[in-house]
Amino acid sequence: MVATCSHCGSSLPDPNAQCEACAVRARMAQRRATDQPDATERMIPYRNPAALVAYYVGIAGIIPCVGLICAAISIPAGIMGLQAARDQPRRRGTAHAWVGIIVGVVSIVLHIGGYLWLRTQ
Ligand SMILES: [Zn+2]
Repeated sequence: MVATCSHCGSSLPDPNAQCEACAVRARMAQRRATDQPDATERMIPYRNPAALVAYYVGIAGIIPCVGLICAAISIPAGIMGLQAARDQPRRRGTAHAWVGIIVGVVSIVLHIGGYLWLRTQ
């Protein structure tokens, strides 16, 4: 008589050993669980600090005067964040990095535009 697993019903060569089919399934489920980003990581890609820096510094770049320095930081930080996300997709942060780059570029354009506009007054 061949012993069968009480969970999945597959035959067990050794009745005392753990079912290999169940063990594999458990490992796969665990791997999926760790691969899935949790809700916090979707909002804040904490494994990609460069992308985070780009995002927050980019937002700060909207502030007049100080913002120009912030924008100048957010663009290279965003590029670093994109590279980090590309090298290790599990780090995520691509969206944050792009926001940092785009907001950084926009605020530099606005700062230069504002400066030129002030000079014509
Ligand atoms: Zn089993």
